[in-house]
Amino acid sequence: MEKIKMTTPLVEMDGDEMTRILWKFIKDDLLLPFIELNTEYYDLGLEHRNETNDQVTVDSALATKKYGVAVKCATITPNAARMDEYDLKEMWKSPNGTIRAILDGTVFRAPIVVKGIEPCVKNWKKPITIARHAYGDVYKGTEMKVPGPGTAEIVFTGEDGTVVKETIHTFKEAGIVQGMHNINGSIESFARSCFNYALDTKQDLWFATKDTISKKYDHTFKDIFQEIYDKEYDEKFKAAGIEYFYTLIDDAVARVMKSEGGYIWACKNYDGDVMSDMVSSAFGSLAMMTSVLVSPDGYYEYEAAHGTVQRHYYKHLKGEETSTNSVATIFAWTGALRKRGELDGNKELMEFADKLEAATIKTIEDGTMTKDLALITSLENVTVVNSEGFIKAIRTTLEGML
Ligand code: NAP
Ligand code: MG
Repeated sequence: MEKIKMTTPLVEMDGDEMTRILWKFIKDDLLLPFIELNTEYYDLGLEHRNETNDQVTVDSALATKKYGVAVKCATITPNAARMDEYDLKEMWKSPNGTIRAILDGTVFRAPIVVKGIEPCVKNWKKPITIARHAYGDVYKGTEMKVPGPGTAEIVFTGEDGTVVKETIHTFKEAGIVQGMHNINGSIESFARSCFNYALDTKQDLWFATKDTISKKYDHTFKDIFQEIYDKEYDEKFKAAGIEYFYTLIDDAVARVMKSEGGYIWACKNYDGDVMSDMVSSAFGSLAMMTSVLVSPDGYYEYEAAHGTVQRHYYKHLKGEETSTNSVATIFAWTGALRKRGELDGNKELMEFADKLEAATIKTIEDGTMTKDLALITSLENVTVVNSEGFIKAIRTTLEGML
């Protein structure tokens, strides 16, 4: 078979620990034998980030702006322990945070649904994609402990000197206050990313806030979404046969539980933080979640939703066998290759991505899987394989399909 050619490079961001090991297996066994892989390689492994004073992370994000599509391996976000372990010059920031700040996007997370790994919510038949606004609110909040009786106020001083003041509360005793913010531009980007992703994936979009209680803060989110929808997306949604649906957050939660899935649920920052863990654990496993950062300018960065699986890596270093699930990392590659194919009009590349995903799912549904899935599957007589064995099994399934 002749290898599939690529016209435009894909931005490849390598990473750390166990996922770096899986990354190489995936390339060697599932990609390079079939594709003349054309990537611009950036090593985001912690050692190289440290050597380049984290410039490599910035460069990889800028390359994503140039080429439009990136695939990223999980990376270590350094903490105190990592400072010693890797002898770091500085406690470098989270690469995902750096990349997100440059691309200004929304993260979409969706479960990979396979037969035999049933969601705990029995009526969920299709994946639910969570779109989390990644800026502001309580994550950029300012808080204060109120020591005793007194008045807490919220004050805005305009550049021209105008002052607007509101009383938060007149305290008779000790308490707490919190101030938080968001920016219209960020909410607009969030809205456009969600509308574009809904069109891209032909799924309905749901959005919910608590606008009945929060008449200015949450209501602004509701209004911005509605305005952009009416002006820019109404016709496109109708043409695609999909719907934009706004409701209150508590109503949304109730409807989600009773739905069969198959839509995108746009969430404010906190709601997205909490709800994505609920949805992912109800669907089975973090190792079965895809994650893609979509910028309002139409740049895409695909990754796995989980981390570097440190515990497995230390076992691997000791020469012990690991059974690490590579599905989410494989789907990061297929997502990126399919998008690259779509942008370049490369049908062969898109079809290959579809087949590799189908082969991955078929391998599991036929009973070969890693330990994490074997623990939760409803299938009987499954074969538990090690990290590399799983990828080799997918290769065999894929060759049978090509
Ligand atoms: P993690 O790598 O997601 O792993 C946590 C646990 O979840 C593992 O110990 C393992 O459980 C299970 N697990 C996760 N992915 C798995 C997979 N593919 N196959 C099988 N089991 C899997 O989270 P962490 O250990 O808290 O973080 C490790 C490093 O990853 C940290 O340095 C953190 O900064 C980084 N991180 C990076 C990203 C990213 O780049 N997007 C995201 C999150 C965390 P068992 O040990 O019970 O088998
Ligand atoms: Mg969380």
